Amino acid sequence: MRSIDQELKAIRQQGLWRKLSPQPRCGADAHNFASNDYLGLAQHPALTEAFHEGLKIHGHGAAASRLVCGTSAAHVQLEAAIADLKSTKRALTFSSGYATAMGIIPALLDKNDFIIVDKLSHACLIDAAKLSGATLRVFPHNHLGKLENLLESIRAKHGSEPRILIATESVFSMDGDVCPLREIVDLKNRFDAWLLLDEAHGFGVLGANGAGLAEELGLQSQIDLQMGTLSKAAGLSGGFVAASSSFIDLLINRARSFIYSTAPPPALAHAGCFAVNLIRSTKGQQLRHRLQQNIALLTDQKTPIIPHILGSNKKALAASEKLSQAGFLVPAIRFPTVPRNTARLRISLSAVHSESAIIDLKKHLSTL
Ligand SMILES: *Cc1c(COP(=O)(O)O)cnc(C)c1O
Repeated sequence: MRSIDQELKAIRQQGLWRKLSPQPRCGADAHNFASNDYLGLAQHPALTEAFHEGLKIHGHGAAASRLVCGTSAAHVQLEAAIADLKSTKRALTFSSGYATAMGIIPALLDKNDFIIVDKLSHACLIDAAKLSGATLRVFPHNHLGKLENLLESIRAKHGSEPRILIATESVFSMDGDVCPLREIVDLKNRFDAWLLLDEAHGFGVLGANGAGLAEELGLQSQIDLQMGTLSKAAGLSGGFVAASSSFIDLLINRARSFIYSTAPPPALAHAGCFAVNLIRSTKGQQLRHRLQQNIALLTDQKTPIIPHILGSNKKALAASEKLSQAGFLVPAIRFPTVPRNTARLRISLSAVHSESAIIDLKKHLSTL
């Protein structure tokens, strides 16, 4: 059999070795520019208290899957809060964002169907597409012309019967840029396709109420499936999708990562509901405002993910190490998370970073 030791050796030789290093606390703090804790909610005292309250009311383990007896009032309330924020009829929660994609895509598509994804989409969209058995087509990052060509040729060759799902991210997780959402919506309407929008990094960050890019552009009603996670700006964990009643009913009946997995702890759902309401409150708006002020110190973009592309794995690792010695936690991101030869530092900003820490980081970045 192929040797594991040789495989591990090859990973090391390519500069692609990954190991786990425990952090004292992983939320954003003065010098942690690695977490996705954009609003500082991962350690927010009121959210901690809501989690405790959830434990007191509901206990910890859900003890069964949602369809058996694992659905608590907290899950129902969380899903109602998400649907309300997203302006959809209903929503459904999963144990993670990854599990959400793995549930949705194979539930909607089979081998007679098509899925078209942006080249830089998150691994969960690609993995779920493969699992579904649908024909997977990829368009170059944010390239509307190529997306249009793909839609056109599928409909020309296969007619109106097959389902076509376009899947993309609102805020790209490793580049911090956004998709041309309005144009993608126009295309999906023209070619009678569905759109799955992964707002993992838009949720809590963009839009007046923090619902995401779709809210900011007034397009929520146009998007078939608005997916997200409570693990980033919401400071907890758990994935969700907001959609029409028919989509949600189909997912409850067909999404295997939903059906065959124990319900997330009800206490977590209780805290999730609190986090969603916090995100859309005045306090949430203030945190988004703070976050935008922090972003403006480093860049003129509107999202908190700032890539500093260095090219080789070696350069990215050395730069990350150098920043670490200066006291900053900034991760080096390498293949296969990003394309080969685009290894980079990924700086993520939070509302709880101080102005002085960001200015200090900026100085260090300019010496790399
Ligand atoms: C983090 C992320 C996910 C996965 O969400 P989890 O809740 O962490 O499993 C999905 N899509 C994108 C774009 C992400 O960045």
